[in-house]
Amino acid sequence: PAEPDVEALQHADVAGFLPLPDAESDKYRRGVVGVVAGSARYPGAAVLAVAGALSGGAGAVRYAGPAVEAVIARFPETLVTAGPPSKAGRVQAWVVGPGLGDGAEARQALEDVLASGVPVLVDADGLRLLDPRALRARTAQTVLTPHAGEAAALLGRSREEAESARLSSVRALAERFGVTVLLKGSTTLVAEGPAPVRVNPTGTPWLATAGSGDVLSGLVGSLLAAGLPGRDAASVGAYLHGLAARALGPAPITSLAVADELRKVWLDVTNG
Ligand code: AMP
Ligand code: MG
Repeated sequence: PAEPDVEALQHADVAGFLPLPDAESDKYRRGVVGVVAGSARYPGAAVLAVAGALSGGAGAVRYAGPAVEAVIARFPETLVTAGPPSKAGRVQAWVVGPGLGDGAEARQALEDVLASGVPVLVDADGLRLLDPRALRARTAQTVLTPHAGEAAALLGRSREEAESARLSSVRALAERFGVTVLLKGSTTLVAEGPAPVRVNPTGTPWLATAGSGDVLSGLVGSLLAAGLPGRDAASVGAYLHGLAARALGPAPITSLAVADELRKVWLDVTNG
């Protein structure tokens, strides 16, 4: 029989993917995720991306950027530098883009992390600044996490076109850039090469709230740092993120609450 076009993860699949520490683990071996996010204008995006990263199973989170004070005030466990990512120290994966703005420092930071040999997740402002040549030159995994508008801009299509053909849009993006693409929306789609597209239906419309995508970026980045391949990190992250929102509803939710809820979702998934 032909390969299926789409597939969906179940609880048991996700449980099998979760990175769990063993007796020999230390924080570095569990994975360190670097977050390059936030700006004077959007300091909160840095806090939310770090919140997601701290909940994703990596052993430590490094933050590099202008929102050090805001990050430390909420998450004192973060390792911080006010300088560029090249000054942050070793990481096993980078998350770049939420609230980053489009100034010269943002461009340079994106270029630096894409030139690194570790997995990189690019979201939000990072997607607007992307140079496709820098993507094609990469050897490590790259994950892009656009919503419909960002996907349309990357494809050079109208938002209506991209939204009316989500499956072909996500496949086309993954193919064009040779990367993993997580297309956000009411159902989230994850495409990578010829593999079946992973469909994630766990979210709720209450997730349509400011900052929820920033939490998802940090979460998926953390899973990458812990060693999951791009397609698994993206689809497991979307699954957990959706369940966390669902557990908080049906009621208005805040993005930081979604990040806080991830611990409980993680327990539910591991306990079956
Ligand atoms: P962003 O657009 O970057 O803020 O990300 C929004 C997040 O909320 C993504 O994880 C989306 O998949 C999710 N989301 C947005 N709208 C909906 C919806 N109507 N139903 C389910 N999830 C949604
Ligand atoms: Mg976003």
